[in-house]
Amino acid sequence: METLDAFDRRFPDETTCRLALQAARWPDGVRCPQCGTDKVYALKSKPFYWLCKPCGNHRFSVISDTIFENTKKPLLIWFKVAYLMLIAKKGRSALEIHRTMYGDPFTADYHTTWYMCTRLRAAMRNQEWIKLMGDVEVDETYIGGSNKNRHASKKKAGKGTASKIPVIGAIARKGNVVCQMIENADTETLTKFVRKTVSGRVDLLATDEHSGYRYLKWAPYPHETIGHSQGEYVRGKVHTQTIESFWSLIKRGIMGNYHQVSKRYLPLYLAEFSFRFNNRKNPDIFSELLSRC
Ligand SMILES: [Zn+2]
Repeated sequence: METLDAFDRRFPDETTCRLALQAARWPDGVRCPQCGTDKVYALKSKPFYWLCKPCGNHRFSVISDTIFENTKKPLLIWFKVAYLMLIAKKGRSALEIHRTMYGDPFTADYHTTWYMCTRLRAAMRNQEWIKLMGDVEVDETYIGGSNKNRHASKKKAGKGTASKIPVIGAIARKGNVVCQMIENADTETLTKFVRKTVSGRVDLLATDEHSGYRYLKWAPYPHETIGHSQGEYVRGKVHTQTIESFWSLIKRGIMGNYHQVSKRYLPLYLAEFSFRFNNRKNPDIFSELLSRC
């Protein structure tokens, strides 16, 4: 992404922001958010407002039915918050974003900044995905819990995971990641997730030896496992290192920025990290986010 200076030059005022949102929302022309028709009429007296005749002269604006609706914050502020989130590869807390925007955290209302961050993360959840292809790695992990538990889990595998939240993910080595919070890492959950997210025509499906993956070879995946318990980490193309680096990015991000995360917000952080990862080569990740707001 561009530097902050370049970003400020790209969006110097509210009108420029509205034009950018309009273009991202309706790349093929303005449509009524209620009925979807393009037979809408721009209000001459009010820029960025339209009327929809089929909806009984329903009036809507460029921010209607977006996350930007019902806040008193100008798009300029929203855009800056979104920019600060998108450039932080390791994540950035709402408090840190708030400080960057306003200086002292107690001179402006921090709750609004927190709310904006949460809404932006929710928008990042709106990714449509196609089933993963190529060489795919699937792995489960546990996120959250206190520092005490982290150390315990390092010493003794399996211990200290009680307060942690299980998460499953699949990553195409040259493509996208899909991950989600799960209730538990049992065979049914893992198998369902793989069937939902991974194409049956992959070249390779690599996992560790977790017994929950044992039915995948019947399913009909070219499934290979790597024997972590025997100290085996790479066997030719068979490894899970790509998804493991993604997990460590999330874990370091969450521990470093938020210290801990609850079940309620974990899906939003997963969405944020996945969105940044999946758009790592997208030269205009910002407009991509706008189109989902
Ligand atoms: Zn309509």
